[in-house]
Amino acid sequence: MAGGNERSMKALKEVWKRAENSLCADCGKPDPDWASSTLGVFICLSCSGIHRNIPSISKVKSLKMDYWDDAQVQFLAKHGNAVTKAIYEAHIPIYYYQPTYNDCQVLREQWIRAKYERKEFTELGKQLPYSDGVKEGILWKRGRDNGQFLPRKFLLSEREGCLKYFTKQDAKEPKINVKIDVINATFQPEKIGNPNGLQITYLKDNKTRNIFVYHESGKEVVDWFNAIRSVQFHYLKVAFPIASDNEIKNRLTRNFLKEGYMEKTGPKQREAFKKRWFTLDHRRLMYFKDPLVRRRCDRRAAAGSGTE
Ligand SMILES: [Zn+2]
Repeated sequence: MAGGNERSMKALKEVWKRAENSLCADCGKPDPDWASSTLGVFICLSCSGIHRNIPSISKVKSLKMDYWDDAQVQFLAKHGNAVTKAIYEAHIPIYYYQPTYNDCQVLREQWIRAKYERKEFTELGKQLPYSDGVKEGILWKRGRDNGQFLPRKFLLSEREGCLKYFTKQDAKEPKINVKIDVINATFQPEKIGNPNGLQITYLKDNKTRNIFVYHESGKEVVDWFNAIRSVQFHYLKVAFPIASDNEIKNRLTRNFLKEGYMEKTGPKQREAFKKRWFTLDHRRLMYFKDPLVRRRCDRRAAAGSGTE
């Protein structure tokens, strides 16, 4: 048997070396050293952990430590990342966010489940929970004063081009009504203290405001995120008819470039230094009293010298 073992491990190395298998099939991380023996994809350690939680779809093995028999190696050789992606990523909506290895767990897990478990992208024109142009549901929203999370009804509408939320279930008037083109949504699990924590940022009266929300279900919160991107995409398509799809895609929700605490003084530069939370987003530098406040301290974002 030793001969067969050696032969199949040599064949495995040949398949593994192919250029198409040099990046993780799910997050793009270089040099994957795990693979799914049922899907035929080469993946990184972190994505293999997600696959392991979906045993009905994927069986993962280490390429370095586990034994692969001839039949399994042949299966990998016949499939591999290029063939498998052509099947499971055939029809991804342009606005759908495809996470990379820098993204948080909930985004990466739901991307993997959307691809292989729910098969959301295998057929053209499939009805998807974020493609209707309208989404309504309850999200847990962080209260302004005591920081407690309370259930709030949110409504996203492509026809009205806005996102609203209501403080009472049966309220007719929304508490806020924000135009879709001034919204940014970004996952902030650590900051919000929940693995499904989403920060929604918007401009009102030239001030940046924040809403912090989560949903118990990772699928639901990622569906909300992609529904916002879908509505933004279609809104911008109408507003900028000559822009290409890719140009519009680049204007959808984005991650902040940099965030963290810095010490800042006042406008006279003689004031005592205070610890402030800074966020660099696009070309805007904002600062807040702490990471979870709704409203920015200053008005003049670019100058970074606002008074308090
Ligand atoms: Zn990966």
